Amino acid sequence: MSEHKSYVLSEMTWVMAREYFKKCDVALLPIGSTEQHGPQNPLGTDHLVAYAIAKEVAKRCSVICLPPIPFGVSEHHKHFPGTIFISPSAFREYTMDVIKSLSYHGAKKIVVVNGHGGNLYSLIEVANRCRRDRIAFIVIFQWWESVRDMFPPDEMGHAGAIETSLNLFLHDHLVRMDQVVDEPVPQMRKIGFYFPIDTRDLTSSGVMGKATTASKEKGEKAYTVAVDTLCKLVNRLKEIPFDKLIEHGVKSIKFE
Ligand SMILES: [Zn+2]
Repeated sequence: MSEHKSYVLSEMTWVMAREYFKKCDVALLPIGSTEQHGPQNPLGTDHLVAYAIAKEVAKRCSVICLPPIPFGVSEHHKHFPGTIFISPSAFREYTMDVIKSLSYHGAKKIVVVNGHGGNLYSLIEVANRCRRDRIAFIVIFQWWESVRDMFPPDEMGHAGAIETSLNLFLHDHLVRMDQVVDEPVPQMRKIGFYFPIDTRDLTSSGVMGKATTASKEKGEKAYTVAVDTLCKLVNRLKEIPFDKLIEHGVKSIKFE
């Protein structure tokens, strides 16, 4: 029988989990969405990519990774079939309960690996509540921001070359490059004005910006940088006492 070694919580026994929580108070929680990602990408793009990054970091840093939360705040994509949309309040409460469970077991330093920008406002609210009530110290990581300088701005949009490249690298059998299209980059924000936005106001295919320039190579480079960046943070977090994080926050992390 081969040695049963996993850093994914759902693949462990409770005895293994007990051993882990005795030694380490860090956990990774990947979160994404199930929403349209253009005619070429799978609906699960955001949680599949977040989970892949989180699992690799967990392995390298010897920390635990949770199974991903696959649904998020995606109502703006609802006109595209297959999109699952959770209300921000339900999303916050559900995420909060997952974090409270981790905190109960002893993992009080939690990195949320977020694959979907639409979740961010809700996650910040959860993180603030957790710090205020000393439930956990949450850091939110959005992988695409760590590789922003590797892609021109028109490739950074929703379902654009950046996300398509990650999918090509991680699971190319799920990508339909024969269906890929480019769309104009939407000019959403006029100075000082905000509008309720449905994705279909801006794009008929679901893609925003350039996607045809995606490649496996670009995906591999971006994945590597995102994983390395997150490893640095996780290793740093392991060393800092929880109380210090609660008292001094980002000032105690000294992350460059
Ligand atoms: Zn996405």
